[in-house]
Amino acid sequence: MAKVIAIANQKGGVGKTTTCVNLAASLAATRKRVILVDLDPQGNATMGSGVDKHAVEHSTYDLLVHGTPVLNVMVAAAEGDYSVVPANGDLTAAEVELVGVDNRERRLRDALEEVDGLCDYVLIDCPPSLNLLTLNALVAAEGVIIAMQCEYYALEGLSALIDTISRVAGAVNPELKIEGILRTMYDPRNSLTNDVSTQLHQHFAGKVYRTVIPRNVRLAEAPSHGVPVMYYDRYSRGSKAYMALAGEIIRRDEGGPPTAAADGIVT
Ligand code: ADP
Ligand code: MG
Repeated sequence: MAKVIAIANQKGGVGKTTTCVNLAASLAATRKRVILVDLDPQGNATMGSGVDKHAVEHSTYDLLVHGTPVLNVMVAAAEGDYSVVPANGDLTAAEVELVGVDNRERRLRDALEEVDGLCDYVLIDCPPSLNLLTLNALVAAEGVIIAMQCEYYALEGLSALIDTISRVAGAVNPELKIEGILRTMYDPRNSLTNDVSTQLHQHFAGKVYRTVIPRNVRLAEAPSHGVPVMYYDRYSRGSKAYMALAGEIIRRDEGGPPTAAADGIVT
């Protein structure tokens, strides 16, 4: 059975796409079968996986609006042993075109049934808003990874997302839960980072990943080469951090104890 995880935060620029691409590659490197679903019309996860968003035959738009089977939409990432359900600007029309369609918030969930036995993880890269696309992700998912920067307004934004998650869980998807809270672009020298971290641990004990993703320029450079960071600079701190995160997620799923990960990136 595939575990479907949405990577969400209605705030933009917090590291959702970076997490989706690099976690997909890292899980795949441990021999997990992974499908990345790009649900952002910007198509950054698609391009970051080395797939030309303008050249794809089908995209998540076709999957959601025309019911094109996921296996017909899926393509291989250029590097990294995972598949990509690509997105491009067409997806902006999906919200409008789905108005009036029955069960429009279940389109992705229904589409993913087809790959349930064919992969271990489905990672969904959500757009930076709480719209119908994100709703489709939350209805399809079993867990949500909340990517966040430890800055002043971060916690405020979190309550709207958590509220949405509980409403979706109450109304349509009772199995939905917060899978984990991931601190991105982490800078331990910043005292605000430490304050926000402390508050996160107080409010969400057990949900905050021990692995943190440091601010690392390699992570920002890799997408321009169309590869996950491990294929650009595998010894970078960013690459090690995402491998550590994959390890932590797998250990949680397989019920093992949380062990120390790579140097300096575990709090
Ligand atoms: P989102 O998908 O939430 O909008 P992105 O993953 O696209 O966020 O990240 C926003 C920007 O920050 C991108 O330019 C990305 O390359 C960069 N970035 C993301 N994570 C890191 C990091 N840990 N260190 C340095 N730059 C990062
Ligand atoms: Mg993004």
